[in-house]
Amino acid sequence: MDRINKKHWGACMNKLKEIGAPLYGWKCIDMFDAKGDEEDELSYATCDLCGNTNVRFVHVMKHDQWPEVFEVGCVCAGIMEGNIDAARDRERSMKNKKSRLKRFMTTHTWMPYKSGYRVDYKGKHAYLFKDFYNPGCFCLSYGRKYFRIYNGARVMDMNTALVYAFELFNS
Ligand SMILES: [Zn+2]
Repeated sequence: MDRINKKHWGACMNKLKEIGAPLYGWKCIDMFDAKGDEEDELSYATCDLCGNTNVRFVHVMKHDQWPEVFEVGCVCAGIMEGNIDAARDRERSMKNKKSRLKRFMTTHTWMPYKSGYRVDYKGKHAYLFKDFYNPGCFCLSYGRKYFRIYNGARVMDMNTALVYAFELFNS
């Protein structure tokens, strides 16, 4: 804990005590980018713990003995899970993935293939075609499996399908 500002650590602990939440044993169950996919859109999240209003990458923290999750910044996540390195690594790998996705989107595109499309990445292939069962929607095919739902919604456009393909290539 020596690389965390002691004042910040103390403030976070006090806040948890104040609301009666557990001080230790939190786990990160999810992470998201407050800016979403729009790179130029200026929007930041507020840390539920310290109130910092400039959180770009949000760590969603959960505890078995607490009903609600906390959406916090990197430092607070590190404090809550008792491991600042884990929180920083997680944030670094998300940033890294974001920039790889950005690069992928500018260098790859769906190429017409048979009755649909195809995209190649590091020797892997994904295919895209109109979803016969759901008019107006797309279906992806990758590794002999079919994928129709991305982030809880049907795939309606080719750009989303390309992001989805990137996820599949990296899964
Ligand atoms: Zn915070």
